[in-house]
Amino acid sequence: MECVFCKIINREIPADILYEDKFVIAFLDINPLAKGHSLIVPKKHFESLEEMDDKYLKKIIVRIKKISELIVKATNKEGFNLLLNNKKAAGQLINHIHFHIVPRSMGDNVNLENSKYIYQENEKKEIIRNFKYFKRSKVKA
Ligand code: 5GP
Ligand code: ZN
Repeated sequence: MECVFCKIINREIPADILYEDKFVIAFLDINPLAKGHSLIVPKKHFESLEEMDDKYLKKIIVRIKKISELIVKATNKEGFNLLLNNKKAAGQLINHIHFHIVPRSMGDNVNLENSKYIYQENEKKEIIRNFKYFKRSKVKA
Protein backbone atom coordinates (compact mmCIF):
# COMPACT_ATOMS: atom_id res chain seq x y z
CA MET A 1 0.00 0.00 0.00
CA GLU A 2 1.61 3.22 -1.20
CA CYS A 3 -0.84 5.67 0.34
CA VAL A 4 0.78 7.86 2.99
CA PHE A 5 -2.49 8.42 4.86
CA CYS A 6 -3.25 4.69 4.93
CA LYS A 7 0.24 4.28 6.37
CA ILE A 8 -0.56 6.80 9.12
CA ILE A 9 -3.85 4.99 9.81
CA ASN A 10 -1.96 1.68 10.03
CA ARG A 11 0.76 3.24 12.22
CA GLU A 12 3.43 2.51 9.63
CA ILE A 13 4.53 6.14 9.75
CA PRO A 14 4.13 8.55 12.67
CA ALA A 15 1.77 11.51 12.95
CA ASP A 16 0.61 13.93 15.64
CA ILE A 17 -2.77 12.32 16.13
CA LEU A 18 -5.57 14.34 17.72
CA TYR A 19 -8.54 12.06 17.34
CA GLU A 20 -9.43 8.62 16.10
CA ASP A 21 -12.52 6.45 16.02
CA LYS A 22 -13.97 3.75 13.77
CA PHE A 23 -14.49 6.13 10.85
CA VAL A 24 -11.86 8.86 10.94
CA ILE A 25 -8.43 9.86 12.07
CA ALA A 26 -7.41 13.49 12.60
CA PHE A 27 -3.81 14.64 12.84
CA LEU A 28 -1.71 17.79 12.50
CA ASP A 29 -0.62 18.67 8.97
CA ILE A 30 3.12 18.26 8.50
CA ASN A 31 3.38 21.53 6.57
CA PRO A 32 0.89 23.82 8.33
CA LEU A 33 -0.68 26.97 6.93
CA ALA A 34 -1.53 28.07 10.47
CA LYS A 35 -1.17 26.83 14.03
CA GLY A 36 -3.27 23.73 14.50
CA HIS A 37 -3.79 23.10 10.77
CA SER A 38 -5.13 19.54 10.80
CA LEU A 39 -6.37 16.90 8.42
CA ILE A 40 -9.51 14.86 8.99
CA VAL A 41 -9.15 11.64 7.05
CA PRO A 42 -11.69 8.84 6.53
CA LYS A 43 -10.17 5.54 7.57
CA LYS A 44 -11.46 3.89 4.42
CA HIS A 45 -9.40 4.74 1.33
CA PHE A 46 -11.55 6.86 -1.00
CA GLU A 47 -9.69 8.99 -3.50
CA SER A 48 -12.21 11.79 -3.88
CA LEU A 49 -15.65 12.96 -2.81
CA GLU A 50 -17.37 11.30 -5.77
CA GLU A 51 -16.10 7.93 -4.56
CA MET A 52 -17.43 8.22 -1.05
CA ASP A 53 -20.73 6.55 -0.38
CA ASP A 54 -23.32 8.78 1.25
CA LYS A 55 -23.61 6.67 4.37
CA TYR A 56 -19.91 7.07 5.07
CA LEU A 57 -20.00 10.75 4.16
CA LYS A 58 -22.65 11.39 6.84
CA LYS A 59 -20.37 9.78 9.42
CA ILE A 60 -17.55 12.04 8.29
CA ILE A 61 -19.44 15.33 8.29
CA VAL A 62 -20.67 14.98 11.89
CA ARG A 63 -17.10 14.23 12.88
CA ILE A 64 -15.79 17.26 11.00
CA LYS A 65 -18.26 19.38 12.98
CA LYS A 66 -17.08 18.07 16.36
CA ILE A 67 -13.35 17.78 15.64
CA SER A 68 -13.13 21.28 14.12
CA GLU A 69 -14.78 22.78 17.20
CA LEU A 70 -12.25 21.01 19.43
CA ILE A 71 -9.30 22.12 17.28
CA VAL A 72 -10.46 25.75 17.48
CA LYS A 73 -10.73 25.48 21.28
CA ALA A 74 -7.39 23.67 21.60
CA THR A 75 -5.60 26.42 19.64
CA ASN A 76 -7.51 29.26 21.28
CA LYS A 77 -8.72 30.54 17.88
CA GLU A 78 -12.04 32.01 16.80
CA GLY A 79 -12.92 30.22 13.58
CA PHE A 80 -11.60 27.94 10.89
CA ASN A 81 -11.45 27.26 7.19
CA LEU A 82 -12.61 23.86 6.01
CA LEU A 83 -10.87 22.95 2.76
CA LEU A 84 -11.16 20.05 0.37
CA ASN A 85 -8.81 19.89 -2.59
CA ASN A 86 -10.79 17.48 -4.69
CA LYS A 87 -8.76 16.00 -7.60
CA LYS A 88 -5.40 16.98 -9.04
CA ALA A 89 -6.75 20.03 -10.87
CA ALA A 90 -7.83 21.47 -7.53
CA GLY A 91 -4.45 20.87 -5.92
CA GLN A 92 -5.02 17.42 -4.41
CA LEU A 93 -1.59 15.91 -3.81
CA ILE A 94 -2.49 12.93 -1.64
CA ASN A 95 -4.97 10.64 -3.33
CA HIS A 96 -6.82 9.72 -0.17
CA ILE A 97 -9.59 12.21 0.52
CA HIS A 98 -8.89 14.53 3.44
CA PHE A 99 -10.49 17.63 4.87
CA HIS A 100 -8.23 20.45 6.00
CA ILE A 101 -9.13 22.41 9.11
CA VAL A 102 -7.22 25.70 9.29
CA PRO A 103 -7.87 27.50 12.60
CA ARG A 104 -8.24 31.28 12.24
CA SER A 105 -8.32 34.40 14.36
CA MET A 106 -9.26 37.96 13.42
CA GLY A 107 -6.58 39.73 11.41
CA ASP A 108 -4.20 36.77 11.39
CA ASN A 109 -3.24 37.41 7.75
CA VAL A 110 -3.22 33.71 6.93
CA ASN A 111 -3.13 33.18 3.19
CA LEU A 112 -4.61 29.82 2.29
CA GLU A 113 -2.42 29.53 -0.80
CA ASN A 114 0.98 30.13 0.73
CA SER A 115 1.15 30.75 4.47
CA LYS A 116 3.57 28.67 6.47
CA TYR A 117 3.46 28.23 10.21
CA ILE A 118 6.56 27.18 12.15
CA TYR A 119 5.86 25.50 15.48
CA GLN A 120 7.76 26.43 18.60
CA GLU A 121 9.06 23.55 20.69
CA ASN A 122 6.28 21.78 22.60
CA GLU A 123 3.51 23.67 20.78
CA LYS A 124 2.23 20.58 18.99
CA LYS A 125 2.19 18.63 22.23
CA GLU A 126 0.25 21.44 23.87
CA ILE A 127 -2.41 21.40 21.12
CA ILE A 128 -2.78 17.64 21.47
CA ARG A 129 -3.02 17.95 25.24
CA ASN A 130 -5.63 20.73 24.99
CA PHE A 131 -7.62 18.78 22.41
CA LYS A 132 -7.74 15.76 24.70
CA TYR A 133 -8.74 17.98 27.62
CA PHE A 134 -11.76 19.37 25.73
CA LYS A 135 -12.76 16.06 24.16
CA ARG A 136 -15.25 14.46 26.50
CA SER A 137 -16.07 11.39 24.42
CA LYS A 138 -15.89 9.99 20.92
CA VAL A 139 -18.50 11.00 18.36
CA LYS A 140 -21.29 8.46 18.55
CA ALA A 141 -23.49 9.32 15.55
P1 5GP B 1 -3.65 18.26 -0.55
O1 5GP B 1 -3.57 16.84 -1.09
O2 5GP B 1 -5.03 18.64 -0.11
O3 5GP B 1 -3.06 19.29 -1.46
O4 5GP B 1 -2.78 18.35 0.75
C1 5GP B 1 -2.05 17.32 1.31
C2 5GP B 1 -1.66 17.77 2.69
O5 5GP B 1 -1.10 16.68 3.37
C3 5GP B 1 -0.63 18.90 2.70
O6 5GP B 1 -1.13 19.97 3.47
C4 5GP B 1 0.60 18.25 3.33
O7 5GP B 1 1.34 19.13 4.12
C5 5GP B 1 0.01 17.11 4.11
N1 5GP B 1 0.89 15.95 4.25
C6 5GP B 1 1.54 15.32 3.23
N2 5GP B 1 2.24 14.27 3.70
C7 5GP B 1 2.03 14.24 5.05
C8 5GP B 1 2.50 13.39 6.09
O8 5GP B 1 3.25 12.42 5.88
N3 5GP B 1 2.07 13.67 7.34
C9 5GP B 1 1.24 14.72 7.63
N4 5GP B 1 0.89 14.90 8.89
N5 5GP B 1 0.77 15.53 6.65
C10 5GP B 1 1.16 15.30 5.39
ZN1 ZN C 1 -5.18 5.68 1.60
